[in-house]
Amino acid sequence: MANPAGYWREIPQRYRLEAGKCKSCSEMYFPPRLVCARCGSRQFETVKLQDKGQILTFTIIRVGPSQFMDETPFAVGIIELDGGVRITAQIVDCDFEKLAIGQRVRLEFRRIQKQGEAGILCYGHKCVPI
Ligand SMILES: [Zn+2]
Repeated sequence: MANPAGYWREIPQRYRLEAGKCKSCSEMYFPPRLVCARCGSRQFETVKLQDKGQILTFTIIRVGPSQFMDETPFAVGIIELDGGVRITAQIVDCDFEKLAIGQRVRLEFRRIQKQGEAGILCYGHKCVPI
């Protein structure tokens, strides 16, 4: 899963904020998966995600992997979107000292990082406290 091609395949789903909902057990996946990890079903319906939610938990990262070095410290949280889907996203435009579990956030589509010497820009969703 951790290969660059996999990352690029995820882009359309990230862009559209669409999740896959298992037709058998209703488990939600974002980005969508081909096989349900809970029940093994391959039948999914596409569900539009809400762009607002709340912080379930978060971590302040002060020494990050190299591609994020110019951005440390940064905050990463698990966000439960309205509707129940959980995603992991960077939390930006906030005072880290004031972040709290349960805080309301809004998802915005932002540049995540420059990749490699070619300076390819990667985009994804980041959370901004409301
Ligand atoms: Zn399932």
